[in-house]
Amino acid sequence: MADFVIPPPAVVAVPVAGGGSFPVRRIFCVGRNYAEHAREMGSDPDREPPFFFMKPADALLLNDADMPYPPQSKQLHHEMEMVVAIGEGGADIAEADALKHVWGYAAGLDMTRRDLQNAAKKEGKPWDMGKGFDHSAPIGPMVPAAKIGHPATGLIELKVNGKVRQTSDLAKMIWNVPETIAYLSRLVRLAPGDLIFTGTPENVAAVERGDVLEGVVEGVGSVRTRIV
Ligand code: MN
Repeated sequence: MADFVIPPPAVVAVPVAGGGSFPVRRIFCVGRNYAEHAREMGSDPDREPPFFFMKPADALLLNDADMPYPPQSKQLHHEMEMVVAIGEGGADIAEADALKHVWGYAAGLDMTRRDLQNAAKKEGKPWDMGKGFDHSAPIGPMVPAAKIGHPATGLIELKVNGKVRQTSDLAKMIWNVPETIAYLSRLVRLAPGDLIFTGTPENVAAVERGDVLEGVVEGVGSVRTRIV
């Protein structure tokens, strides 16, 4: 056993539907990957290259757990997303090979302190504190691609307190999953355990304490949390 001078952090893991758990290494997130969301954020969605930001692995919040309203923000936004789980690493992955690197999928939420993100954007500062805060990544059970295949179309939807807030189709992603993996793997060597949040469709909005968020990705599953 290594001579750690403080207790080592626990491995973060997401339960797999049907048993087992998926250990998480890093969380990558794609920005502005649905045209209507890019427009509502004030950008031109005309296939500008994909860009990425990150959250720490321990920002994950497992399904059905309460999400504490984060500090230093008055504008907590939901972003409903499909999450890709990498099972086999690699660099410079070809689009044609990309899906072989995917272990599975989950439904997730890229929760955002929009006020902090907007302030950072305005000053050209990093987004980390707007995006990568504690509990900022609620995630549902992981499902293996071996069981469900690789969803490229299908409903992606979020309800808040039972009312539909975001609804779209996976087919509307600007950069699909193989393209995203290929692009990201040219920037970093992907590793087993990496997650990729693939971006949100339009109609992001604020949530308040007491709100219940329930999201679904057709063919993948669901994610649920309550803001407290
Ligand atoms: Mn997002």
